[in-house]
Amino acid sequence: MTPFTYSRAADAAEAIRLCSRPRAKYLGGGTNLVDLLRETVERPAALVDVTGLSSSIEERPDGGLLIGAAAKNTAVAECRAVRTRFPLLSRAIVAGASAQIRNMATVGGNILQRTRCTYFYDNEGSRCNKRAPGQGCDAIDGLNRGHAILGTSPACVATHPSDMCVALAALGAVVHVRSARGERTLPLTDLHRLPEDHPEIESMLDPGELITAVELPALPFAARSTYRKVRDRASYAFAMVSVAAALAVEGGNVKDVRLALGGVAPKPWRAWRAEAALRGRPATAENFRAAAERELAGAKPLRDNGFKIELAVRTIAAVLRELTGEGA
Ligand SMILES: Cc1cc2nc3c(=O)[nH]c(=O)nc-3n(C[C@H](O)[C@H](O)[C@H](O)COP(=O)(O)OP(=O)(O)OC[C@H]3O[C@@H](n4cnc5c(N)ncnc54)[C@H](O)[C@@H]3O)c2cc1C
Repeated sequence: MTPFTYSRAADAAEAIRLCSRPRAKYLGGGTNLVDLLRETVERPAALVDVTGLSSSIEERPDGGLLIGAAAKNTAVAECRAVRTRFPLLSRAIVAGASAQIRNMATVGGNILQRTRCTYFYDNEGSRCNKRAPGQGCDAIDGLNRGHAILGTSPACVATHPSDMCVALAALGAVVHVRSARGERTLPLTDLHRLPEDHPEIESMLDPGELITAVELPALPFAARSTYRKVRDRASYAFAMVSVAAALAVEGGNVKDVRLALGGVAPKPWRAWRAEAALRGRPATAENFRAAAERELAGAKPLRDNGFKIELAVRTIAAVLRELTGEGA
């Protein structure tokens, strides 16, 4: 492991000041970053521990929530307001990793965790444009069963691994960030970048910019919502396809719907096309499938992962049927 200094920030201002040093990085629970240090994929000169920053979950009068970036994944999943107002978020979090990892992992770190592409981790033997820009991508012609089918580029086909972020994308979460220049907010759906020619640049954050909180705007119909994760093992495995969904049906028609996909794209994938196809239309199994097909129409399968297209279509349709009370 490359040597680094460690310091613990007492507040956001100190964290930002300490992280302005050359090659410094924030450290949340370390459940992703420490593995990357061990593999020498990440080589920061300094780590700034931000677990002492706000971890509160503040209930807003309108029904929204403000979740501190240092809140542990377990605390968010177990929070009563999250479970009742945004059950898809609790379900997405507990579908991820293991209880021990969720006890350590923070909201900020979960959002900025890095891909699980095995070629990205294989520092010694594989080419990866994300790890070494310009080197090439061994996943494109390699073992790519778990890789992305939407939003990819000739430079990178890695998926974003987070379950929590898929729920946050569906909920229209807003990320609060801070730097030496001040504070700003951005929708979670705009935070992660598609790879295009620069897969090494994964987010719209500037170097040293700190995530301080995540805001969930009030969304009353999200009380009827869920998260379904399809994977190779029942636990402790990343998604092949996952779906976060909330549905409001009135008079047999879709009044409103939120849909996002995981395991299929380099970022949490908000299914805007499917949502638009559903609003105002009869809430029928045929329309659910047609909307899902519309979302997947632009998919670009690789050698091993073409099955994800039909799997995503079926999972979207099944989850929507479940939310109408029909079961799947
Ligand atoms: C064996 C294993 C299985 C897993 N399975 C799943 C799974 O099925 N689903 C899933 O979703 N996840 C899974 N994970 C990933 C896990 O959820 C992440 O490791 C975790 O959420 C990262 O949180 P952390 O606080 O430990 O982040 P860290 O490892 O501390 O940091 C991750 C990144 O975020 C940056 N960062 C941290 N906090 C901030 C902040 N406040 N502002 C700006 N940058 C910040 C760090 O600099 C680093 O780049 C798994 C992990 C392991 C080890």
